[in-house]
Amino acid sequence: MAVSSSSKNNLPDWAYIRTDFPILHQKINGKKLVYFDNAATSQKPLSVINAVSDYYERYNSNIHRGAHYLAQLATEAYERSRQTVAQHLNANSEAEINFVRGTTEAINLVASTYGRQNIKSGDEIIVTEMEHHSNIVPWQLLCAEKGATLKVIPVNDKGELLVEEYLKLLNNKTRIVSVAYVSNALGTIHPVKEIIEAAHQAGAVVFIDAAQAMPHMKVDVQELDCDFLGFSGHKVYATTGIGVLYGKRELLEKMPPYMGGGEMIKSVSFKGTTYNEIPYKFEAGTPNIEGGIALGVALNYIQLIGLDQIAAYEHELLLYGTETLSSIEGLRIIGTAENKSSVISFLINNIHPYDLGVLLNEQGVAIRTGHHCCQPLMDRFGIEGTCRASFAFYNTREEIDQLAESLNRAVHLLS
Ligand code: PMP
Repeated sequence: MAVSSSSKNNLPDWAYIRTDFPILHQKINGKKLVYFDNAATSQKPLSVINAVSDYYERYNSNIHRGAHYLAQLATEAYERSRQTVAQHLNANSEAEINFVRGTTEAINLVASTYGRQNIKSGDEIIVTEMEHHSNIVPWQLLCAEKGATLKVIPVNDKGELLVEEYLKLLNNKTRIVSVAYVSNALGTIHPVKEIIEAAHQAGAVVFIDAAQAMPHMKVDVQELDCDFLGFSGHKVYATTGIGVLYGKRELLEKMPPYMGGGEMIKSVSFKGTTYNEIPYKFEAGTPNIEGGIALGVALNYIQLIGLDQIAAYEHELLLYGTETLSSIEGLRIIGTAENKSSVISFLINNIHPYDLGVLLNEQGVAIRTGHHCCQPLMDRFGIEGTCRASFAFYNTREEIDQLAESLNRAVHLLS
C-alpha cells in the first residue's frame, strides 16, 4: 500500500497515495479520467479491494455460531471491524455500533424503532431545508403515521443554516432533530455541536447524518454528544451495501428490534421470543460480511493518511477549485458558506446541468448533475439542479484545471 511509505516531513505524498486507486489510472473517451463524483461514491484503495478478494479466496464463511475454522476467521475479522469503527468514532463501546446497509437504512431504522416507540400525535421533528431525501422521507412517514409535524430549519442565500430560526423552532413538543453534518449538495458544514446542545436543552434527541462528513473529517460521537449517527461505507472508501448506525447504549437498549430473523434473537418459541443484546438485536439475517470487513480496512487506511491532513489538503483543493471555476464567464457557485467541505455546486448561464455533464464526460471528466436528492433545497434556490464537482484526497490541481478547460470548451459548444 503506497500510503505507509509516502510520508515526507510528515506530509503525505498525495501523488503517491493516488497510486493506491487503480480505477483512477484509465482513459475515458480517450482522455485521462478525472473523477469528481466523490460525494456520490468514493473510489476504493487496493487495500479494500484486496480485503474483499482475500475474504472470498481464503475464509468466506457465515459468521457467528460456526464451530469451524473459517467461520471463526470470518467472525473475528467482522467483529474486529466493529471495534475499528467504534474507535474511529470514539464510541463508548462496540455494542453501540450497528452494521446496516448505509445511511438510508440507519435513518429508517431509528425512525421505525425509536420513532414509533416515542413519537405521538402533536409531537414535532426538526430537519433542515438542506437534507438529502433519505433524511426527510422516513420522518415524513413517521409523522404521517403518528400525527406528528415535521418542522424545517431554513437556509440563507449562501447555503448556511439559519441557526436563530432553529432555536425558535425548538419547544417542549420537539422530540427528534435530524440534521446532516455536511450537505451533499452544497458542501456546507453545519454547526452540529451547537445544534445538538440546543436540542438536548429542549429535551429532544439528535440524529446526525454523517454520510458526507466521514470521508473528510474527524467525527467524534462523544465530543458531539449526538444520540444517533449514521454513515455509508461506500462514501468512505469502503464498499457498497455496508454502513453504520451509532446509537447511545441506553437508547439502543430500550428500542424495539427493526427486523425479525436469525441472529437478532436470544430464544424463539411460539409462546414468545426474546431478543439478543445490542448490537445484534438490530442485525437480523446474514449481514454483508465482506462489506463489514472492508469498512474496517478503509477506516484504517484513512487513519494512516491522517484525517487532519486529508481535511487540510481537500480544503486547498476547494480554494483552488473555487478560484479557478469562478474565473469562467457566467459561472455561478451555489453554496458559498464560510464553512465548507470539498464540494462545488455550480450553474453556467442558462445551460442545463445535464448538457454540461454529458459534454464533460466526453472530455473524461465525471461530475454529477441534477437535484442531488435535495429537491426542497433546489426549490429554495429556485433551480432544478446543479452541476456538482466533489473532491477527494486523490484529486489534484491539474484535474481541476482539466475541469475548467473542459467547461470552457463545453460552454463554447453550447452557447
Ligand atoms: N445523506 C447524505 C448527506 C448523503 O449524501 C447520502 C448519499 N448521497 C445519503 C444520506 C444516503 O446515503 P446512502 O444512499 O448510502 O444510504
